[in-house]
Amino acid sequence: MTKAIRIHAHGGPEVLHWEDVPTPEPGPGEALVHHAAVGLNYIDVYFRTGLYKTALPATIGMEASGTVTAVGDGVTEVAVGDRVAYASAPIGAYATDRVIAADRLVRLPDGIDFNTAAAMMLQGMTAQYLLRRTYKVQPGETILVHAAAGGVGLILCQWARHLGATVIGVVSTPQKAELARAHGAAHVIVGHADLPAEVKRITGGAMVPVVYDSVGKDTFMASLDCLAPLGMMVSYGNASGPVGAVDVGLLGAKGSLFLTRPSLATYLAKHSDLNWAATDLFDVVQKGVVRIRVNQTFPLSAAADAHRALEARQTTGSTVLLP
Ligand code: NDP
Repeated sequence: MTKAIRIHAHGGPEVLHWEDVPTPEPGPGEALVHHAAVGLNYIDVYFRTGLYKTALPATIGMEASGTVTAVGDGVTEVAVGDRVAYASAPIGAYATDRVIAADRLVRLPDGIDFNTAAAMMLQGMTAQYLLRRTYKVQPGETILVHAAAGGVGLILCQWARHLGATVIGVVSTPQKAELARAHGAAHVIVGHADLPAEVKRITGGAMVPVVYDSVGKDTFMASLDCLAPLGMMVSYGNASGPVGAVDVGLLGAKGSLFLTRPSLATYLAKHSDLNWAATDLFDVVQKGVVRIRVNQTFPLSAAADAHRALEARQTTGSTVLLP
């Protein structure tokens, strides 16, 4: 037997139960991974609450690192004993051991430990595609990043600065502002009460060519008003709730804006894209350009406490769950 966090109903953190489950066996093209560390991500909350649908009972979680302990027929990508990590559907990472398609696994370079790997794959490859593909940030540009002291946020700040951009971060407390500044945000706005006015002041009226908005419902409209004409609104998360229906006419009225709602799964669907994103991420982390901040760890069995902290906005940087 192995252990996993399972949910039998959608709801609050109390629906997360630490249970015995049969040891899974890899089928053709699959590998069994013994997890060393599991990444906590906001998407785990969406699957727990039912905002994102899944059949029940279910084991949530999309990211972990560990060692390959068995492989199914036809697997060529990894071998038993390999140190690996992944950030991928389907859910099932909140477990001591899990089976996953071998072509979703990435071999870890020696310099990257398990905790760092579990903390960075999903948030780091998200930052990679957001900055390098969804909107290609150019040197000299000033960009707006919401939840700048969060998991994705701290990576975005550091990587964007490395690309030569000036980052305006948005956070909820002065402590988070300090953290965002220490990780590359040149300007930090605390709270979003008067966001467009603040962005106008900082940019001397030019506004920004791109907004990376992971907060969703509470900030969507204000974010649109921070964009320069022809700017790109990247709505990539729902921490405050889903944005819902949008009047497309608004995009015209506010300056022929672009709007996208990207997801990591689309950007990593091709194996070549997964390899590019992972290699690019390992490169900036190994060079020290992007430092992965594992600012909280919890036993995996106490995943409910980790969810409470994440939803109460008490976490900063990345959080790892230890099996
Ligand atoms: P974070 O560490 O960023 O945690 C969420 C943060 O959102 C909080 O710390 C808080 O920062 C901010 N926030 C604002 N309003 C609320 C609210 N009402 N309730 C809770 N938090 C709020 O999480 P992650 O780094 O894991 O993920 C960040 C976002 O990116 C999530 O929305 C996630 O879904 C999204 N995401 C999207 C991906 C994609 O491909 N589309 C992939 C990965 C993540 P503060 O207190 O400073 O406001």
